[in-house]
Amino acid sequence: MKPQPFKRVNYLWDDETADQLDAVERLRYRSNILGSDQRITNTGGGNTSSKIKMTDPLTGEEVDVLWVKGSGGDLRTSTKTNFASLYMDKFLSLENVYNKAEVKGVKTEIEDSMVDMYRHTTFNLNPAASSIDTPLHGLIPFRHVDHMHPISAIAIAASKDQERLTQEVFEGEVGWVPWQRPGFDLGLVMCNALRANPNLKGLVMGQHGLINWADDDKACYELTLSLIEKAAKYIEKHDKGEETFGGQKYQSLNEDERNELLIQLLPKLRGMVSQKNRFIGTVHVTESVLQFINSMDAPRLAEIGTSCPDHFLRTKIKPLYVDWNPQKDSVESLLEKLEAGLVKYRSDYASYYEACKYPNSPAMRDPNPTVILIPGLGLIAWGKNKSESRVTAEFYSLAIEVMRSSEAVSEYQGLPRQEAFDIEYWLLEEAKLKRMPPEKEFARNIVVVIGAGSGIGKATAHRVAAEGAHVVCADLSMEAARETADELLKIYGMGIGVAGTGISGCGSAIALAVDITKRESIKAMFDDVVLAYGGVDNVIITAGVFVPPDKQGYIPDDKWDLTYAVNVTGPYLVADEAKKVWQAQGLRTSLVITTSANAAVAKQGSFAYDTSKAAANHLIRELAIELSPLVRVNGLAPATVVEGSSMFPRDRVISSLTKYNIPFDESESTEVLRNKLAVFYAQRTLTKSPITLADQAEMAYLLSSNKFSKTTGQIISVDGGLHEAFLR
Ligand SMILES: [Zn+2]
Repeated sequence: MKPQPFKRVNYLWDDETADQLDAVERLRYRSNILGSDQRITNTGGGNTSSKIKMTDPLTGEEVDVLWVKGSGGDLRTSTKTNFASLYMDKFLSLENVYNKAEVKGVKTEIEDSMVDMYRHTTFNLNPAASSIDTPLHGLIPFRHVDHMHPISAIAIAASKDQERLTQEVFEGEVGWVPWQRPGFDLGLVMCNALRANPNLKGLVMGQHGLINWADDDKACYELTLSLIEKAAKYIEKHDKGEETFGGQKYQSLNEDERNELLIQLLPKLRGMVSQKNRFIGTVHVTESVLQFINSMDAPRLAEIGTSCPDHFLRTKIKPLYVDWNPQKDSVESLLEKLEAGLVKYRSDYASYYEACKYPNSPAMRDPNPTVILIPGLGLIAWGKNKSESRVTAEFYSLAIEVMRSSEAVSEYQGLPRQEAFDIEYWLLEEAKLKRMPPEKEFARNIVVVIGAGSGIGKATAHRVAAEGAHVVCADLSMEAARETADELLKIYGMGIGVAGTGISGCGSAIALAVDITKRESIKAMFDDVVLAYGGVDNVIITAGVFVPPDKQGYIPDDKWDLTYAVNVTGPYLVADEAKKVWQAQGLRTSLVITTSANAAVAKQGSFAYDTSKAAANHLIRELAIELSPLVRVNGLAPATVVEGSSMFPRDRVISSLTKYNIPFDESESTEVLRNKLAVFYAQRTLTKSPITLADQAEMAYLLSSNKFSKTTGQIISVDGGLHEAFLR
């Protein structure tokens, strides 16, 4: 890599890498390295294109193909599949279609209908959907185009005197177009600007971002970087230092104070914003975020909201800023202020909707804020899942940088309210939302599985994750917990969004160690869950212990105590600690405790275990009363799941096989031996089939879910049908 003049963006172009790639892969490469720097563009924001000569599969002739980043996806992580491909000649012919319309221009019917027309121009059956930004690339007569959302360029684009600033910063190299919702007309507007001034290398797009072009891809990349560098350098020169945002009004809490407050606050806050839809939280605390939130100007600037439409769609028209003195005011006063702030926020949102709506506008969406700013504490973002709440936190923190920069060189201004509405309630956007598959049973839920490191717990963690849950894999063994969480992350991915402080930067699954015989350990686990996701929904306890008696049938006192500590006191302590979070949240949820068919069958040889499980059965009934109406409490009573069970270690399996005279060979694997025992046990049941981990996980999931919303205080056996274990 050659030494380069960039200090405010990362220069990552490597000829050796690029030169090995074909033209489409070079575009993918350019996109990935542009997307990897938050100062260049935000997660999911911006798009890139190349016009590439390719062989037409229909005629065998060489044609010009527009490869352009399609709808959805993210530049940093894009692969070739994220790019749409369009025949250039067919795409350009769409201008005639557009021009034939009687009424045309921004936000007209013809403009919206152009998005569907792009499909007619698809090259080589590429299924990637074209985005609304396609004409910005297709109509510009250069081979390569980058459209980015760089902090420094948006700062200029969101300033009161943006046109003058554009001229001053770029000295005529880059032109300016006023804010206009992206679409076919904006492409034409840009073309006209270029026609009027053929020397332009790019345009600042009012309230939005930057677009620039070149006939060589590396040159286009370097131009993008140099324009951003230039703008950032200009802003840096005007930095206000300590006077940024009008100076500091409040001081930050230290990390311990902050976490202590967050642990108290987050479940209450989650309950407050989740009355309509449940949300998952992300806490984002950086020096820059704190400098903004603690500042004199924060209330004024927060009210203006974000500018770039990409930022705005996630952060809503504005955040909720709470004027609270972290050094002087109490937690109670913070909660009161949040409560009052939310009432005001929702009513402001409803007024905004009423003032801006059209007869055919979609119905008003959830009026709760997605970003909450608390002095001394930080930024709390809410989203329908962890990935989205991380993106929301990222976008507002980028908006803070935009405001800092804009206020350094001019005065920051937001998107006009009507324009914001026309993006938020755009019928195309609504159609996109309607096309999304319905949310899964455990979407927006945080499910804690205790015992997730093995057996029924691991199977349950996988089962609820498949239903869209955020899964806390808790286990006595951190290593086992981590293994399950890693398996889940491998299947479901980390999602997008670059934000979240400490444990709050997690994905949709985390591993935590917990010893359910110790209250402090349980409390520490729930504290971590709250910091990671903002609250707790369902808790499923599969952890249990079976201590076999010695050869004389004797169970030592300490083993008796351990059995009760894990199987009875453990679930009680978990319920008692979870109760604090549940009550703070005030959201309906459920607790499932795993007991055993043994609880109902008196027999020899498992004295401590059987009586402890009988006690757990009654604990379920008492908890169902105690925790009503907020939490349903039910029991899952498995019997003899031998498959993959840590309760059936090899020596126990062998001793059982010997006891029942089942032939086996010492050389056989534990799982094969377990299966022999399972088949034997199955013969003693009414359904005659081995009971699997999946059978148990299914019931743990069902009891937790709303499918059993009217059932509480019950114990459901999954034992294949053991008549002696029938509950009476
Ligand atoms: Zn854009």
